[in-house]
Amino acid sequence: MSLPFRLSVAVPLYNEEKVLPEFLRRTRSVIDSLAGGPHEMVLVDDGSADRTLAILEEAAAADPRLVVVALSRNFGHQAALTAALDHCSGDAVVLMDADLQDAPEAIPLFVEKFQQGYDVVYATRASRKEAWWLKLSYFLFYRLLAMLSELSLPVDAGDFALLSRRVVEQLRRLPEHHRYLRGLRSWVGFRQIGIPIERAERHAGKSKYSLRKLMELASDGIFAFSIVPLRAAILAGLLATALSVIFALYAVYARLFLNRSPQGFTALVVLITFLSGILLFFLGIIGEYVGRLYEEVKARPLYIVGKTVGWPNPHGEQGTRRAR
Ligand code: UDP
Ligand code: MG
Repeated sequence: MSLPFRLSVAVPLYNEEKVLPEFLRRTRSVIDSLAGGPHEMVLVDDGSADRTLAILEEAAAADPRLVVVALSRNFGHQAALTAALDHCSGDAVVLMDADLQDAPEAIPLFVEKFQQGYDVVYATRASRKEAWWLKLSYFLFYRLLAMLSELSLPVDAGDFALLSRRVVEQLRRLPEHHRYLRGLRSWVGFRQIGIPIERAERHAGKSKYSLRKLMELASDGIFAFSIVPLRAAILAGLLATALSVIFALYAVYARLFLNRSPQGFTALVVLITFLSGILLFFLGIIGEYVGRLYEEVKARPLYIVGKTVGWPNPHGEQGTRRAR
């Protein structure tokens, strides 16, 4: 691929006033050092309650490379990322967090791979600086998901990635609501490659991912990319049936030949509670899929834009198309 090309950096922000000035400074200087251009930064304010939007608007007024998209309320990280993708006009898009955990200095490495012909270049976490229990959860989750999913999903790869224009266009066609972008990115295909990049500590402020949000993201990954949990019900059912048949045969045998009837109230109670537990568990799993069906059927938009600054980018070749 020949230069010059235009890069878009897509960033979701939620209450990031503390890191924002430093983030803009570091990212800008990386973009300045890139060949080609004019590059752009698409910054999506995900309904922040602090001065994030004010800082963004100020910065955008002084710098035509900034595109600001303010959502009407907090729609969550994955929706904000989707909004950012929908407003990018570059030949390639780098998705990154605003808290400087994704080092802007890695962008040239991504671009190098892109120019070698890759459509997706994603960062794999060589190491991360986080609490041990969080590290362990990430480790187990990525492996569980890779095991459950038919798609080969790379382990330890987050959203920090470069996507070519055609990948972005394919992603825009996907209407699903519970978005697990790092999975959808694999699903799209084309030439993909991971490069190990250290995940730094958050520069300032607190994580905007509560444990609940993290669990939701994890379940979006599993339920959107696997139906193995549904099939597990069949397996459990078969197993329970087989056990019960064996026990029934034994009961007949004991009655006829040993002149003994099996007895035991305790065993009965344990068995009933155990089986109702399994039944309710799988009812819950089915409910999870039904609930997701319901959300999709309603087909509400993924996000609502309250305001934009500097969009559409006049440098965008075919202008920016909005899929929704
Ligand atoms: N974020 C967002 N909306 C949210 C939560 C987070 O746009 O509802 C942004 C946040 O500002 C940051 C990125 O998503 O740029 C990742 O969030 P965070 O760093 O808090 O997550 P963590 O790295 O702790 O998983
Ligand atoms: Mg972070």
